[in-house]
Amino acid sequence: MIGAGITGHTVAITAREWLNGETFVLGCGRPVGFGFQPGQYVTIGYGGEEREYTLISSPAAPELRFLIKRVEDGRLSGALAGLALGARLRLSGAKGYLTWQTTDRPAVFVANGVGIAPFVAMAAAGIAGFTLIQGARTPSGLFFRHELSRAAGRYVPCLSGTPVRHLALADVHHGRVTDYIERHLVPGVYDFYLCGSRSMITDVTLLLDRLCPDARIYSEAYT
Ligand SMILES: Cc1cc2nc3c(=O)[nH]c(=O)nc-3n(C[C@H](O)[C@H](O)[C@H](O)COP(=O)(O)OP(=O)(O)OC[C@H]3O[C@@H](n4cnc5c(N)ncnc54)[C@H](O)[C@@H]3O)c2cc1C
Repeated sequence: MIGAGITGHTVAITAREWLNGETFVLGCGRPVGFGFQPGQYVTIGYGGEEREYTLISSPAAPELRFLIKRVEDGRLSGALAGLALGARLRLSGAKGYLTWQTTDRPAVFVANGVGIAPFVAMAAAGIAGFTLIQGARTPSGLFFRHELSRAAGRYVPCLSGTPVRHLALADVHHGRVTDYIERHLVPGVYDFYLCGSRSMITDVTLLLDRLCPDARIYSEAYT
């Protein structure tokens, strides 16, 4: 037992890299014997707070990495954004079922914001050929787009903010992921993996129930 409500490991923060004004990659040491599948999350604890965060590193990597949005007035994301390198966190897991299911069906990943995290881990682990529909307001929110577009068979960035002129981004869709799916997704028997805000997941699920009633849907909501 290492703290209130959480059993497991203690790890030190080893790195922090800001990707835009509110989102960063946090690196931590990897406890001996700690295993996980790409797509799984852990519980991180610091002080009196505990929250879930999805691993973005490959299961083969020597360190653990997370993609974290600093939420306004957020108790744990705010602490993780500011703690010094070397600070120690409690960590338990890994848990969760948004993991790759081998199948003959085409896989379609749909994510918004930091909900891209499980798909970053899957791509890092060598999973490839999927369709990825990645939503953000602005290009700086299309986290890991270069790595993901290399692994994807088809990569569709969807930007819901004001269109940016001269954007060097191929095939960008101006609108939400739901708008892209409604207008452009060819109906079929897919395996969908949805991750991000609960409102996006609810909207996409309702849409898919109508457009692709025989599809399977796996999902994880962050808020
Ligand atoms: C399975 C799972 C995996 C997750 N993986 C990740 C991940 O990889 N990366 C990541 O950044 N987060 C992830 N989350 C969300 C994370 O667990 C926290 O909820 C988030 O960091 C906010 O915690 P906090 O302590 O900073 O905010 P709190 O102190 O709990 O909340 C402060 C205020 O912010 C609001 N709020 C909470 N979360 C959000 C949000 N995401 N956006 C806007 N407002 C919010 C609250 O309603 C509250 O008003 C995951 C959640 C789940 C359930």
